[in-house]
Parts: sequence; structure tokens; C-alpha cells
Amino acid sequence: MPEFRQNLATKEWVVFATERARRPEDFTRSRPQVKALPALDPACPFCPGHEDATPPAILTLPTGAAAWDVRVIPNKFPALVPAKDPSCVACASQVGPYLQRAGNGSHEVVIDAPYHNCDLPLLPLEKVEEVLDAYYLRFNALSRDPCTELVLIFRNHGPRAGTSILHPHSQIVASAVVPFRVRNRIYEGQRYFDSYGECVYCAMLAYEQADGTRVILENEHFLAFCPFAASTPYEVWLVPKHHRATFGSVDEDELHDLAHQLRGLLSRLWRLLDDPDYNYVIDTAPQHLAAVPFYHWHLRMLPRLTTPAGFEIGSGIGINVVLPEDAAAALRGACGDAVTPEEAGLP
Ligand SMILES: [Zn+2]
Ligand SMILES: [Zn+2]
Repeated sequence: MPEFRQNLATKEWVVFATERARRPEDFTRSRPQVKALPALDPACPFCPGHEDATPPAILTLPTGAAAWDVRVIPNKFPALVPAKDPSCVACASQVGPYLQRAGNGSHEVVIDAPYHNCDLPLLPLEKVEEVLDAYYLRFNALSRDPCTELVLIFRNHGPRAGTSILHPHSQIVASAVVPFRVRNRIYEGQRYFDSYGECVYCAMLAYEQADGTRVILENEHFLAFCPFAASTPYEVWLVPKHHRATFGSVDEDELHDLAHQLRGLLSRLWRLLDDPDYNYVIDTAPQHLAAVPFYHWHLRMLPRLTTPAGFEIGSGIGINVVLPEDAAAALRGACGDAVTPEEAGLP
């Protein structure tokens, strides 16, 4: 029988239609085979040696080294741009009944690795940590801009996730407005806190940790689990055990544990679902709510295995064909070690 489940953090409903249940291999069968890519692509602007093809770097890691591991650049085609007049960043104007304002903010690309064919699951742990260090440094630098309300870090992997650029990369957008979905999560977090006197994410973390059926990985600082009302097959949350409202306040030990879990999770997904397309986003509080007790930053991983259709668009209710308990069991059973070049079909 289909079953509705509610996302405790957003109040959104999901319907689990398990008669359509599919095994992991059913998601991979219709996908094109992963092609072995060269380490350097002469046509790729993100590969080393082609730095002139992009705007100058904002940050490179390791600092001061001749060769970079991670390179952060302005997006050549930004969704948001810095305000010409910072004093007017929040100025809105009316067009008839409609509200509009300048698309202010910034949009950066994090080139995650110098190698065209070496995505995060193939990287040594310390290199994944460097990517997270770049996230952390740029998050805090952008947060200091008085025009920034929200910094959103995300990664689009594969065409179904919205990118055709194969070179491993992430993106960071600083926005002068707090979008509706973020406001809704803040609002629901505050309502839960008012009703129960605790953070809704801390409550979910404690329950999932004790219950265990949806847990994939646990280390000292993070718990990785499939959420009770997962909106898509194999959705996973990486939730820090220490309550902090923003990603910008993490410490070095937490970043190390996050790198470990992120690479472990991506390696499992890679093996179980044949390098699936995915988006991940770091959900974090807006700057003016940086220390609140009712919001708890976390990383949300969304493999793109199904396409939302009319019912989802019309109702806002997701249809998920894989129970999170089954997804978690499959991910627990997959190997979380770094993917080897042989497995990836690389020379
Ligand atoms: Zn490249
Ligand atoms: Zn919390």
C-alpha cells in the first residue's frame, strides 16, 4: 500500500509508492555507460594550463603553492552580480502589482581538482578536505559582505543534475535575498522549537541514531542517514552532531569528518548506482540568524534518478519508489573506500 510520510523539518509530504519498487540496478540500466575521460582535456577551461580561459582566481589551495589542487573563480555567466551601489542592495521597486529588485549577490565556481577525470570519490581524503576548506573560506568571506543574506554551496553532477561540464566542480552563490524555501525551513524550525523546546534537526538526529534503520555512516562528528520522508530515492543527509546554525562556524575536526563521510557516501553511490547524477546542497541559516537554536546546518544529497512529473508539480508531493530504510541498507552494504582508477575505467 502507498504511504504518505511528512518531512518533519519542512512539513512537506512525500508518497512512497513501493509497488513500483525498484532495485539499484534498475536505475542504472537506462543510463549511458560512464566513459573513461583523459586526465587533462585540451578543450576544458577548468584544466590546469588553461587558467587564462577563466577570470582570475579568487582563491587557490594549497596557499602559495605553484600548482593548485582547488581553484575558486568567479562564474563567467553569473546568476547574481555584485551591487553597483551597495547602499541600495535591498531596494525594491513595484511594477504594477509586481515586486522586483536588482539581482545582487555573487556566483563563484570551485574547481574541485586539477584532474579532469578525478571526481570526489576518486580523490584521496586530504584532497576532499581541501575542497571543503575552500567552501569554508569562501563561505565566511562572502558572509562578511554586508550585502549577503545567504550563502548557498552546491554541487551539480551530471546532465540530469543540471550540468554538462565534466570537470569536477562545485558552486557558491551569495544572495541578497533569503529565498522562500529557506524561509520556510527557518519558520518550521522556529515553530518546532516553540512547541517542543528543541531543535527539530537535533531531535531527528537523536531518533535516527538510536533507531539505526536509516543510518548509513557514523563518525565522531557526523551522522549520515536517509531521511524518514526522503523526497527522492537514495536521498541522504549528513548532519553534524554539534548544533550549529551555519556552515561557517564548523571547526577543523568537523570538516575532516565531513570529508570522510562525503567521500564515503559518494563512493557508495558510485558503486551502487553506477556514478549517478546528483545535486548536493549545504542547507544553512541566513547570516542574520547565524546563532539561533532552531536551525541546524546539514548537507543534503539528492541523486537524480527519477524526473518529477505532473503530480509532483501540481501537488508539491514527491513520489518516491524506494523506502529510505531500503536505500540505507543498500548504501550500508556498498563499499565506501575511494573508487580506484581501475574501477573507473581510467588508464
Ligand atoms: Zn578539465
Ligand atoms: Zn540542532
